[in-house]
Amino acid sequence: MYSEDALVRKIRRRFSAAGAEVGIGDDAAVVDSPDGFRAVLCSDLLVENTHFERRTHPSDAVGFKSIAANVSDIGAMGAVPARCLISVAVPADLDESWIDGFLDGAAEACRVFEVAVVGGDSSSSERIFVDVAMMGHVEPGRAVRRNGARVGDGIYVTGCLGAAALGLTRLESGSRTDPAIRRQLYPEPRHRLGRRIAPRATAMIDVSDGLSIDLGHIVTESGVSARIERESIPCHPGAGIEMALHGGEDYELLVTAADLPSEVDGVSVARIGEIIAGDSNRIVLVGESDEVILEPLGWRHFRSGARRASA
Ligand SMILES: [Mg+2]
Repeated sequence: MYSEDALVRKIRRRFSAAGAEVGIGDDAAVVDSPDGFRAVLCSDLLVENTHFERRTHPSDAVGFKSIAANVSDIGAMGAVPARCLISVAVPADLDESWIDGFLDGAAEACRVFEVAVVGGDSSSSERIFVDVAMMGHVEPGRAVRRNGARVGDGIYVTGCLGAAALGLTRLESGSRTDPAIRRQLYPEPRHRLGRRIAPRATAMIDVSDGLSIDLGHIVTESGVSARIERESIPCHPGAGIEMALHGGEDYELLVTAADLPSEVDGVSVARIGEIIAGDSNRIVLVGESDEVILEPLGWRHFRSGARRASA
């Protein structure tokens, strides 16, 4: 039996709320924003059996990912992540080792990504819910939105796609050793790269739901269409084009810009196509001998094939 108070005490002991005027343990946290910056806020909800399963995802991976997903969203605005609130609801009979592992993973991600936990909330639930809300900062008017893509812009992807989806299928088939599994369990957001790329980007988004959905957000919000070349899409070794197009959770950056270098800070940046006119907001996928309209299937479609009927 796990009490909320015990959980809060545990969180309070674990995180120092560095830099906050009022940190964990009061009604609310009090933090400052660097002079001359705007606050950037986001949150991300992870639900057991929807986003993860205890069978396949160790608790430290759930903790790590809950932080990483928010860092990725802040980074995709061209902003700097700084502080977060962690809220969890867990079954009353949940083993304490799950909580300890979860906090280990969250603390490790906060260390790596330089984010401080300043508060949160807890409750009980039949399924595990983890909600992290994050605050970062960006210079006024400098946040990179989804709606700025212009006809003639190139479409760029950092790193490679499909690794997280491949890792998930490997996990579900019982493997624990494939390198892609790390990309599924402990994703590394490109927030520092986002910060570097932001001044040249007209639109930017992190690839969390899958290229087909996330590029769909850019074309819809920008009122344009897109042509991408199948051969140009950087696929993780072993991941097929379907995983790269729809798999999601890679937390790479999808960027539109007049021009970007092919490498930034040692990370490859691939040009996969260009923004074209068209208020139908279509994505045309160009193959060697064919052209198809790319449907925004994303990870739900992809996972429905890979997961058990109970999902
Ligand atoms: Mg996002």
